[in-house]
Amino acid sequence: MTDVVSVKDVTFAYGETPAVSDVTLSIEEGDFLGLIGPNGSGKTTLLHLMLGLLAPDSGRVELFGEPVDEFTDGERIGYVSQKATSGGGGMPVTVRESVTMGRFAHAGHSRLDEDDRAAVSEAMETVGISGLADRRIGRLSGGQRQRAYIARALASEADLLALDEPTVGVDAESRDAFYALLDSLNESGITIVLIEHDIGVVTDRADRIACINTELFHHGDVDSFVESDALAEAYGATGQVVHHDH
Ligand code: ADP
Repeated sequence: MTDVVSVKDVTFAYGETPAVSDVTLSIEEGDFLGLIGPNGSGKTTLLHLMLGLLAPDSGRVELFGEPVDEFTDGERIGYVSQKATSGGGGMPVTVRESVTMGRFAHAGHSRLDEDDRAAVSEAMETVGISGLADRRIGRLSGGQRQRAYIARALASEADLLALDEPTVGVDAESRDAFYALLDSLNESGITIVLIEHDIGVVTDRADRIACINTELFHHGDVDSFVESDALAEAYGATGQVVHHDH
């Protein structure tokens, strides 16, 4: 089976500052990969490399089996960036319009038929924002906005959801509901890569963990991660480990 994402020997520096060093990992179809590491450890950079938003200095990235710089099926990927909860303040686009744009990307034609409109409604329903369809994205709370972006990805029938600390600034209750939504999307077959600073969330939810601090310290299933020294090694004396309270 072709990997959804394949990263081979990838290195990237911002000028003289190495951000990602010789990382090799893959994400299989249906995986839920948690990407963790201390602040400034290269998580966002690695995600951007995976999605072709940055080009590696060396090494190779493939998306759905194609070299990332030749990949053109952008609608197969739903990306919720770190800015998604806070940005977009003035966006004069309603939730329905935004989700509809996702559907256009999938349908590839300029007039949506009844099935397309049904898919837009269903996507909003799945993430629980049907009641907000006519609200402007810029007027939503952070948590609602996350859901709107995910609905757009669902409407475009994305196969991969990439999320960069999606619940920063979201209250605890909405956060739990959001992660329950991610679980159900993953169960329905969508591949997920999630950057999350709360390690408890990742060990509870993810199938696999990639733990980085510029270099990759662990890539594998949760049990082998918990039993390994990767966490202490990657986080070192930074004291940034966040524990999850149950
Ligand atoms: P994380 O997502 O784990 O917090 P990042 O990938 O954002 O880490 O950053 C990795 C390193 O690269 C950090 O040292 C950060 O300061 C640096 N960095 C990130 N973005 C830039 C940029 N646009 N220009 C210069 N340095 C950057």
